[in-house]
Amino acid sequence: MRDADVIVVGGGPAGSAAAARLASGGADVLVLDRAEFPRQKLCAGWITPEVVRDLDLDVERYPHGFLSFRRLHWHLHGMRLPVTCVQHSIRRIEFDDWLLRRSAAPSLVHAVRDIRREADHYVLDGMFRCRYLVGAAGTACPVRRALFEDMRPRPRELQTVTLELEFPFEWKDPDCHLWFFEHGLPGYSWYVPKAAGWLNVGIGAMAARLKKRGEHIREHWRRLAARMRRQFGISLPDDPPGYSYYVRGPVDSARIGNAFIVGDSAGLATRDLCEGIGPAIRSGQMAAESILGGAPFELDRIGARSLGEGLFSRWMDWSFTRGVAPAA
Ligand SMILES: Cc1cc2nc3c(=O)[nH]c(=O)nc-3n(C[C@H](O)[C@H](O)[C@H](O)COP(=O)(O)OP(=O)(O)OC[C@H]3O[C@@H](n4cnc5c(N)ncnc54)[C@H](O)[C@@H]3O)c2cc1C
Repeated sequence: MRDADVIVVGGGPAGSAAAARLASGGADVLVLDRAEFPRQKLCAGWITPEVVRDLDLDVERYPHGFLSFRRLHWHLHGMRLPVTCVQHSIRRIEFDDWLLRRSAAPSLVHAVRDIRREADHYVLDGMFRCRYLVGAAGTACPVRRALFEDMRPRPRELQTVTLELEFPFEWKDPDCHLWFFEHGLPGYSWYVPKAAGWLNVGIGAMAARLKKRGEHIREHWRRLAARMRRQFGISLPDDPPGYSYYVRGPVDSARIGNAFIVGDSAGLATRDLCEGIGPAIRSGQMAAESILGGAPFELDRIGARSLGEGLFSRWMDWSFTRGVAPAA
């Protein structure tokens, strides 16, 4: 049996952010991830200035491709709205590996299946034992399944479905494009350039509303593929990989005893843009602060909307979720 004070299940942004803070605070922490890093993670890899700040990321010293956008092109009901801002893109295969290494926490490749409570410890697969447990394994997190499922099922109406591809492409247009609600899609599609000649193209929508419309996300993917061919001369295959995650619902039950769920495991992506990296990092850091110093683990301190609390952001939120289980 391998003992550690804290075991973090999942080494994505949520898990590595928790592990980094725990390790720097002197905790005996171990990260378990089923994948060997560097690993692929479906994600557009768009990150905000808040993410850069929360991670204390020195952009000049980041060893991989990092691209900054001076504006985004929003396409909303046929209108093109250039939005001046500063946003960034990274490749998740590089970024997550770098974050996990930077955490300086020991990690092992292990797919966690079984979690049991034994007195004041948690035992994982009969092989690992800890006093504190952080569930950071994404949508299908085994910590959530074992300890949190009965507390608050995630509302199906808040589940997204996505399709995406990242590939080498000598893009000419260096701006990020987002097309919202096209052909009735309850979601949006994107074109996100990356440094060193990479491009990410994808589409995401609210699964239950798509189903209610009798549609499949692949029909919308085909429309996106047609646009990419027309507008950018890109040929996309018909069968890209997909992933599903949840946008922000109620978050008052993300800690039970010494067990925490963070990031996608807790369903924290924002309700107006489905942005999940920032909330994952902040929740991971917050869990670490609770373990190290007893700080309250209050996820409602993490914003539920990327665009703030203004009317536009609330309208975007409603356009995706139709007001289901509004965030605190
Ligand atoms: C197509 C798509 C595009 C997106 N684009 C963006 C974007 O541009 N910007 C943004 O902010 N957000 C985006 N998101 C959301 C974002 O990717 C997630 O919210 C974010 O990755 C959550 O981080 P996490 O650490 O909670 O989970 P993950 O990043 O999913 O990490 C979970 C880790 O747990 C591991 N794991 C899983 N099961 C087990 C197990 N049983 N045992 C051990 N380890 C396990 C996995 O291998 C993985 O490494 C996108 C999501 C999708 C699907």
